[in-house]
Amino acid sequence: MPVLLLVGLGLLTTGIVSLFVASQSTSGNPPSNPSADVAATSILPTATPSLSPAVTAPQNTSPTSTPTPVPAAGPGRTQPEVEEPTPILSEVQEPISPLNVSPNLSFSGDVAYQHVLAQIAIGPRPTGSDAGWATGNFIIAELDKAGWSAESQEFLFKGVKGRNIIGRKGSGPIIIIGAHYDTRPAADQEQDAALRAEWIDGANDGASGVAVLLELARVLDSETLKNEVWLAFFDAEDRGRLDGWPFSVGARQMAQELTVNPQAVVVVDMIGDAGQQLYYEHNSTDELSIEIWAVAAELGYQDHFIPEFRHTIIDDHIPFLERLIPAVDIIDFDYPYWHTVEDTADKVSPESLERVGRTLQVWLEEKQ
Ligand SMILES: [Zn+2]
Repeated sequence: MPVLLLVGLGLLTTGIVSLFVASQSTSGNPPSNPSADVAATSILPTATPSLSPAVTAPQNTSPTSTPTPVPAAGPGRTQPEVEEPTPILSEVQEPISPLNVSPNLSFSGDVAYQHVLAQIAIGPRPTGSDAGWATGNFIIAELDKAGWSAESQEFLFKGVKGRNIIGRKGSGPIIIIGAHYDTRPAADQEQDAALRAEWIDGANDGASGVAVLLELARVLDSETLKNEVWLAFFDAEDRGRLDGWPFSVGARQMAQELTVNPQAVVVVDMIGDAGQQLYYEHNSTDELSIEIWAVAAELGYQDHFIPEFRHTIIDDHIPFLERLIPAVDIIDFDYPYWHTVEDTADKVSPESLERVGRTLQVWLEEKQ
């Protein structure tokens, strides 16, 4: 989806980020890294949680929002295939290797890719379309299947009905992993003007992020997590600068309705292309980028998670950064099929989905 921002100034001072100065040019690098300021100020609220209603309602005291299944490690009937769980687990005294956090449930790029195909089969999925609503229903059904508690957050924008979906699991400080599921209702980057009004498949720009979140729903081990994880599926990200819409309408809605103070927000967008190169993004909180890219390096993905700055992007992390919540955008903006009718499933690679998914799985399961 997003917009490349030429000059990412004023994140903190302007409530409405300057979509108007957005540019697709990378020729003029920002004079300084605005995320340094954001990071410095955004870390503080987590140490002194005074800004959010979360203070009056700590997450642990809200049983309705934390179903916390944590199936008591008792009768092995929930996992009948594990025949000798107790003795083996009790022998493990040392810290678990990051590479073996979830030996039985490892993120599969092939499974994630099936989630891409399932979304493509629904058709282009703009906000307010029947296909968009069907995609929301598909996501809810998949979350239910994986044992996550799913909640819808409906909203109206310019007379169009949108719907965010949040899956929750675990307990502890909240971490949000987000992706937009709507697709752009215009191929406005097409060379051929006759195609620019077409709706796009959004295989990478939309479906890839959703696919990673849905496969995370299957594999995340709630007994290992030390956090309450939200899988956030944003609607209405990708109509920006069409019909007078801004970007990230759904993410902004979710950020505004927060009654808790998340520890971190990680947005994944356009991460599935075969020529995957993921760079630090300037608006993101540096500490989070460094942590996540370090996990990717542990997993051997350093050729794809490149610890260098490249783009400055307006995406779904911005509404959270504006509320001083640490946030990061994982995105490969060097994608030649961006906002064209060629953003199709054959451009997405299971291996790329797997690298992002495994990195986030390990990062989440190690996160304190
Ligand atoms: Zn887009």
